[in-house]
Amino acid sequence: MVALETSKLFRQLSPHELGALRRIAKEKTFGAGREIFKEGDKGDGIYVVKDGLVEVSAMVGQTVRHVFARIGPGDVFGEMAVLDYKPRSASAVAAKDTAVYFIPRDEVLNLLERSPMLALALLREISDRLREFNCQYLQESLQAERLTILGRFARSIVHDLKNPLNNIGLSAEIAAMERTSPQARAQAVARIGKQVERISDMIGEILEFTQGEHSDFVLAPTNYGAFVLQLAEELRPEIALKAATLEVDGPLPQAELLLNPKRLRRVFYNLLHNATDAMGEGGKVRLRVFANEREVVTEIEDSGPGIAPEIAGQLFETFATHGKAHGTGLGLSICKRIIEDHRGWISARNGPEGGAIFSFALPLPKRDNC
Ligand code: ADP
Repeated sequence: MVALETSKLFRQLSPHELGALRRIAKEKTFGAGREIFKEGDKGDGIYVVKDGLVEVSAMVGQTVRHVFARIGPGDVFGEMAVLDYKPRSASAVAAKDTAVYFIPRDEVLNLLERSPMLALALLREISDRLREFNCQYLQESLQAERLTILGRFARSIVHDLKNPLNNIGLSAEIAAMERTSPQARAQAVARIGKQVERISDMIGEILEFTQGEHSDFVLAPTNYGAFVLQLAEELRPEIALKAATLEVDGPLPQAELLLNPKRLRRVFYNLLHNATDAMGEGGKVRLRVFANEREVVTEIEDSGPGIAPEIAGQLFETFATHGKAHGTGLGLSICKRIIEDHRGWISARNGPEGGAIFSFALPLPKRDNC
């Protein structure tokens, strides 16, 4: 329970002003759950909580009521009405049995004319309330944004895992049947292997995507030409599995770049996988690297159908996927993040013969002029 004069709004008033205030203020009590005022009511004065708890809430949209302030003993509510005299934009309800001091608007205005300290305290109160509201609003917007992304993410994962898992289940049944021929059994086992590979790719992408800031992101001086050649040899058998070929246009520039080989490997892996996905069975992927005075540019060109116009504008956006049964829409956004972590850029276009060309650049280390 607080006396009116101990409320932070009135603490600075002179004994004379406090005396006047005490005479004006009317005490009112509200049982738990009772409404003190509601949206649309006349803003006829301010309230100071003497005892109890008041919840101030407003409608968000058509159906949801949102509590944006809980006001305890000594605190003020309904103060906006003193300034604008407009209908209440929020409702106040006693959350417990509550006692309040009510000071009618006209009386507050009279007091304000005589007491600059009260005017200052009231402005401070209003500014604190706005700041608090702003903070809460920002937090909630951020949280809502995160939840939206998480929801889309969860939906995309569940959806994408369902198909390969169904395929594994069916293939396992076929492989386990006694009457299945050795040839059909081998095919079923190969299908399971492929689906497991697909799931592990997806999990790799999800882990990469959820990693956030990378504390382990260390750049080491690396011979880029040698790195690309070794990677191409590693990936060639996988590409051959899809009856496609990988050609590396030589000679590769032997530039020494600052890079994180493990993460850059994922860029090649994602781009080459996308290329073989787009080409279906067969096709040719060409990889070339060239340098200018500032950077080393790598291009991966495929002989597929090219980038569909429906996705061209969003290629590198998270969850943007088009024309794939199991696309997560994460691969290119991950590539972009990795390349930008290397302070480079990535872009895509269709080549003159129709296939897609993905280009990314990595900066050459700055030369020491001394
Ligand atoms: P996902 O492959 O899971 O869909 P990505 O971010 O890797 O996600 O790719 C986004 C989309 O870009 C793909 O769904 C596809 O439509 C398009 N795309 C990517 N690479 C190629 C390519 N080499 N040729 C044609 N389209 C491509």
